[in-house]
Amino acid sequence: MRFIPYGLHWIDDQDIEKVVKVLKGDWIVMGEKVKEFEDAICGYVGARYGVAVNSGTAALDVAMNSLGLGEGEVITTPLTFVATAHAILYAGLRPVFADIQRDTFNIDPADVERKITDRTRAVACVDFAGHPCEIGEIRKIADEHGLFVIEDAAHALGAEYRGRKVGSLADVTVFSFHPVKHITTGEGGMCVTSKEKLAERMRILRNQGMESSAMERFGPGGRWVYDVKMLGRNYRMTDFQAALGLSQLRKLEFFIRRREEIARMYIDELSSVDGIELPAVRPYVRHVWHIFTILVERGINRDEFVALLRKKGIGAAVHYPPVYRFTYYRERFDFRPEDFPVTEEVTSRTVTIPLFPRMKEEDVRMVIEAVKETARELSG
Ligand SMILES: *Cc1c(COP(=O)(O)O)cnc(C)c1O
Repeated sequence: MRFIPYGLHWIDDQDIEKVVKVLKGDWIVMGEKVKEFEDAICGYVGARYGVAVNSGTAALDVAMNSLGLGEGEVITTPLTFVATAHAILYAGLRPVFADIQRDTFNIDPADVERKITDRTRAVACVDFAGHPCEIGEIRKIADEHGLFVIEDAAHALGAEYRGRKVGSLADVTVFSFHPVKHITTGEGGMCVTSKEKLAERMRILRNQGMESSAMERFGPGGRWVYDVKMLGRNYRMTDFQAALGLSQLRKLEFFIRRREEIARMYIDELSSVDGIELPAVRPYVRHVWHIFTILVERGINRDEFVALLRKKGIGAAVHYPPVYRFTYYRERFDFRPEDFPVTEEVTSRTVTIPLFPRMKEEDVRMVIEAVKETARELSG
């Protein structure tokens, strides 16, 4: 049986050629291509400095650590991939969750404000599904309280908020290049910022806490001497990944357009279907549709809905189980689900249906028919 996954990369022969070319060269890690990729992403999103790393999770870790927050709390959303909250713990801080907005599933600025205490150091927001969070309001609240803003934009490369690209709005913005994301480098990620100090710290953190890169040390005229200033990691990106990223970036606008077209088809075909509710898009954003989530009606069993779709060959998924419900977070902290009523409602009713640029018209039709049929089978 044909099975359509919820997300899939799209790598073509041109991408492969670019990778092979780098592999045949002498410098395959943290060389010119990595720098070129960093500059290209920065140019695209409108940030000054880019620091490429080997995953989105590594980017979050480096970003959080670069802020030098010491002890305290970081406010974030529970409806995210667990990496967002993990990064707060890696940096030795405590995650504090704010509830989400009912229409976009993004962190609710009003609840962020309520959760601020004298221990709060930063806000880590997420652009859920590719719909930018209310970064304007969050920025304002953060400035009033002297907090940093980290934007986990793993879903949102290319998204815009009030005419400005995501990547130019927070103190540090983090992207992921995992295969299900908008462009891929296999594994990979990047931090972007317009603050020179943060960029410098992130570069050092990426590379064992060392001040100079291998290229500076081993290249002609290099010095072997180096100092270690911070407890860094090895999060370096390879040049063949960067070459893939550069090649993919050229196709980003095409990828986003395809995602927009597919989302449009879903909206046209599914908005009048009984038993499900479609995602909202605020008028002042460009939503880049990393995923397409529907909400099933209260009377419908969500798990059954997902199981039935999967039986029909549709790779339905759930984004996300809230972070506070995972065993590790339950054992370490005492979060109470009832403190997050909107998150609880959304997480119990949400279903992600397939959306990726390489989907064919017939795949989209197959998903639409399966969703209609399943809603019919489980309604009333
Ligand atoms: C994918 C993702 C990450 C982590 O990225 P990796 O590259 O898989 O490490 C972090 N946050 C969110 C919201 C994501 O979707």
